[in-house]
Amino acid sequence: MAADLRVGTTGARPGAMGFLTDTTLCIGCKACEVACKQWNQLPMDNFGFTGMSYDNTGDLGATTWRHVAFIERIDDHTGRRPVKLQPFQSNWLMLSDVCKHCVYAGCMEACPTGAIIRTEFDTVVIQQDICNGCGYCVPACPFGVPELSLTDRKAHKCTLCYDRLKDGLEPACAKACPTDAIQFGPVPQLMERARKRVEELHQQGVTSAYIYGDRAVGGTGGIEGLNAFFILTAPPEVYNLPAQPELPQRRVLPAFLSTAAAALALGLAAWRALRGVK
Ligand code: SF4
Ligand code: SF4
Repeated sequence: MAADLRVGTTGARPGAMGFLTDTTLCIGCKACEVACKQWNQLPMDNFGFTGMSYDNTGDLGATTWRHVAFIERIDDHTGRRPVKLQPFQSNWLMLSDVCKHCVYAGCMEACPTGAIIRTEFDTVVIQQDICNGCGYCVPACPFGVPELSLTDRKAHKCTLCYDRLKDGLEPACAKACPTDAIQFGPVPQLMERARKRVEELHQQGVTSAYIYGDRAVGGTGGIEGLNAFFILTAPPEVYNLPAQPELPQRRVLPAFLSTAAAALALGLAAWRALRGVK
């Protein structure tokens, strides 16, 4: 059996580079979103409000590879904004969302052309010249990251600025973030930093802080860890993130087996009826 080279609870392979996105430091300025668009020459999406929030881009997509979500807290019981909040927190939660560069990437597994590759930095990149636009990667990602472009009909998503990493530069979004809410580096180091930060937050009274994407927390359905992980202060669903991310393709075999079992039972029942067997 091959040795398991992945390290610690991150599940990261040696040399893996990633992101720690600390939502407690995010001020919602969208500098990361804009820097990403500038560097990657992505067009603007919607120059106006969605009508659903103070956010204008709405979601990750073919032309939005970093997306800062604004989530207004509404108290479940009263239906109003909470009046009692944890220290340093307002009624708004900000999440700068991005591709998770999964240790086991559903998009990469589903791609039939080999267009999606794992780079020497252990990041997940779509090669545009090989993508045939079949779209299999879209439902295979449990986080809803890749999207087919209406312009070139190919799938697009964050590359973790592969071209910048090759030149020894940090990704554009991390470089632009004025509060260091986005930190880039070797995954085990970032995880260490995240753990310290969560401890610090707990000591400061933000007891709900935790790491989303730690292998120990999110390692279900074949996902293991995420090379881009987050410090959150509310349940994942509040941020529109799956609590138990799972690869959809892992459900194919059980679904096939139950269909086959049902077909067999029906066939047997029909045979018995035809033969008059009681
Ligand atoms: S988050 Fe989605 S798109 Fe990104 S590597 Fe994971 S499966 Fe692929
Ligand atoms: S790493 Fe680069 S491509 Fe990915 S979100 Fe950041 S700026 Fe955009």
